[in-house]
Amino acid sequence: MSDTLYDVLIIGGGPAGLTAGLYTSRAKLKTLLVERMILGGQVMTTTKVENYPGFPGGIDGPDLMMRFQEHCQEFGLETMTGEVTGLIAKGDEKIVTVDGVEYRTRAVIITTGAEPSKLDIPGEVAFTGRGVSYCATCDGAFFRDVPVAIIGGGDTAAEEALFLCRFASKVYMVHRRDELRATKVLQERIFANDKIEMVWNSTVEEAIGDNSGLTSIVLRNIQEDSTRALDVVGMFVAVGVTPKAHFLADILDLDAEGYILADSDCQTSITGVFAAGDVRKKILKQIATAVGDGAIAAIVAERYLDNLGH
Ligand code: NAP
Repeated sequence: MSDTLYDVLIIGGGPAGLTAGLYTSRAKLKTLLVERMILGGQVMTTTKVENYPGFPGGIDGPDLMMRFQEHCQEFGLETMTGEVTGLIAKGDEKIVTVDGVEYRTRAVIITTGAEPSKLDIPGEVAFTGRGVSYCATCDGAFFRDVPVAIIGGGDTAAEEALFLCRFASKVYMVHRRDELRATKVLQERIFANDKIEMVWNSTVEEAIGDNSGLTSIVLRNIQEDSTRALDVVGMFVAVGVTPKAHFLADILDLDAEGYILADSDCQTSITGVFAAGDVRKKILKQIATAVGDGAIAAIVAERYLDNLGH
């Protein structure tokens, strides 16, 4: 067990976690932020962020998150890489297990975010990394002058479809309804792009390929109840996100989809444990709302520690 007793331990280093860390370290609370991969979260895989205030013309996701990190460094936020596997609340003290080592803290802010959901169809796992991808920003450039499909009708699918047009010869946008969920400005760009062909009312039933990788996907037209093969060598899945809170299922109250239930003060079912950002059940998942959550969680945690007699 680590000797240090932290005031606040933040799990996750996306916009919510970094904002919480900025506020708590600026408030001189002894804070440790633990991130499993690289700081920045999902935004690191976003080419251009157009709706975060203060950046007219947009800003690249990694550039924005680098600014968040630099800002946290100004206030001396301590960060480490590691995977959190456990959380125990022992009254006023919490024990967080990171890579098998126990860390003591008085408050915890969970900002683990969400990860892309899977389709759960035959062939999906077998061809992941060989044609099937969950991140166009990461893998799109490997698909030059070839036909690809993007699955989904939300903001992520729309942004990724537009990004894929830079490389692919053709982008099929496969959506299970006849209307996109994506915001209107993205819809307009999708419909105006000659490289994108909409495939409405359709779901993917199977990913098919050979030793070279993915060669086609089997589509089902829900309205006509018919199937057909679509020849594509890339399939980008953008059918929403799944919260990363499964490791807390026995500890905290989650909803049926696995989101952490927390009130508008980000307080979870355990006093002194807060949840902020995409992992928290709420109506809008944006960088702006993650930042808002991170700030709230930090300030409420500070008040909680004051009441404990910080
Ligand atoms: P989303 O908004 O939940 O959209 C998921 C899409 O996938 C929907 O169109 C949904 O269809 C479809 N879908 C879900 N399950 C499916 C399945 N099993 N098979 C086929 N299609 C399926 O997810 P998202 O686009 O990843 O966005 C997540 C959140 O981040 C949203 O709140 C979004 O606004 C936000 N976001 C914002 C921006 C931005 O502001 N620039 C960018 C990216 C993401 P239905 O429409 O029929 O439900």
